Amino acid sequence: MNQPDAIIIGAGVIGCAVAFELAKKQLRVLVIDKNDEVGAGSTANSCAVVRTCYSTYQGVALAYEGLHYWRDWANYLEVADERGLAKFVQCGMCQIIAPDGHWERVKPHYDAIGIQYEEWTAAEARANMPMWHTGFYYPPTLPGDDAFWQEPASEVPGVLYVPGEGYINDPMLAAHNLRRAAENYGAEFLLSSAVTAIRRSGERVRGVTLAGGDEIDAPVVVNVGGPHSAIINRMAGVEAEMSIATRPLRHEVHFVSAPPGVDYQHDGKVTADTGNGIYFRPETGNLILVGSTDPACDPLEWVDNPDNFNRSVTTERWQAQTYRLARRFKDLRVPNQMQGVVDLYDASDDWIPIYDKSSLGGYYMAIGTSGNQFKNAASAGHLMAELIDRCEHGHNHDADPVQVAGRYTGLQLDAGFYSRQRNINKGSSFSVLG
Ligand SMILES: Cc1cc2nc3c(=O)[nH]c(=O)nc-3n(C[C@H](O)[C@H](O)[C@H](O)COP(=O)(O)OP(=O)(O)OC[C@H]3O[C@@H](n4cnc5c(N)ncnc54)[C@H](O)[C@@H]3O)c2cc1C
Repeated sequence: MNQPDAIIIGAGVIGCAVAFELAKKQLRVLVIDKNDEVGAGSTANSCAVVRTCYSTYQGVALAYEGLHYWRDWANYLEVADERGLAKFVQCGMCQIIAPDGHWERVKPHYDAIGIQYEEWTAAEARANMPMWHTGFYYPPTLPGDDAFWQEPASEVPGVLYVPGEGYINDPMLAAHNLRRAAENYGAEFLLSSAVTAIRRSGERVRGVTLAGGDEIDAPVVVNVGGPHSAIINRMAGVEAEMSIATRPLRHEVHFVSAPPGVDYQHDGKVTADTGNGIYFRPETGNLILVGSTDPACDPLEWVDNPDNFNRSVTTERWQAQTYRLARRFKDLRVPNQMQGVVDLYDASDDWIPIYDKSSLGGYYMAIGTSGNQFKNAASAGHLMAELIDRCEHGHNHDADPVQVAGRYTGLQLDAGFYSRQRNINKGSSFSVLG
């Protein structure tokens, strides 16, 4: 493509969604990625949980809107994919009630938006999830701590259950689906090509330079670089005016077989067990996938160079997460053979993404997705395309934040909530829950 109207840096699930939405607005879109396949960055190892339990109203609204895209995936894409379509597994989502109060922050937003939920007592949790121990663990601890091994003194206070939620079975395929959808509207993908510089002309972006020296010009450039977002912003020279920063944060996710006789792949539910420091969900092969909810006892592993970090599962994280899981599941067997994936969150200072313009005309960013925005790929793509369209037509988004009506829910999505210049949002969970 010689003269694109917009260059997207990054072909992860969000970059592909922004590309699709901009292409539908008749822009000639070029997506550039240094990987040789779309969705091969952090998207590939996403747990792809689709839930709405965010701490803020806007967080819940964007996720509820995002959920509807997955339910309507084939229609939304408008085109088939020769690899098939990613599948939304609607298994339901449990939040085990814990003193961190996350469920209490979420409930008023559910009521305001009309998201259906059930409140289970401990007895109902026992009946509905007979493979669980319903012991109450709080605060989360590490296996090296004596408190970890004490028997729970009581049962969990209950569970907040949302039946309409679940997970996507193949996050990389979801990105590929969006690629095909974007191509259907004329978008092009340039893979195996790294952007090494962003050129400017006065107060506006001019284009990008690729490794090898090729230059491609476009009036709009969008940073959707995932854990590389800060590096790309540095290339554009836009960091100084931002009050929220993004940094790569290493995370491990582990897989353990369901206990003997339990068909967790079919009977399991996505679960946030914050009192125990973990989230878990069913996984193909009757496995249980388990990750950390970032409790205070778990060290945050910041990474300086997103191209060079330890991609191997470590004994410390494996034991912490799988032993916690074993406290929740009857007869769970934690094998000696560690199994899992390691990847990076692009964590923002308040664990809320930045969907915004910048001080450089024509340069935009959809970054800081903090381990919790896979589910929002399409709703964020829509938000970004509206934001870009209005700003490129002269709207002053910094002074008068763009408001977008959700395509499915009609909910008002406030793009100003995701501003690069916001104060740190104290209403956030400051964890992967957002
Ligand atoms: C372990 C883990 C579990 C997660 N679980 C969930 C979950 O359960 N639910 C949820 O909603 N979210 C989850 N997330 C978060 C979610 O996966 C991410 O928010 C989402 O995938 C980010 O997509 P992206 O397109 O922004 O970034 P990425 O998928 O990382 O894509 C960025 C792309 O930019 C490219 N790139 C970077 N720099 C350059 C350059 N200079 N030139 C060219 N290309 C470049 C990279 O190659 C990469 O392909 C999880 C994340 C991780 C890591």
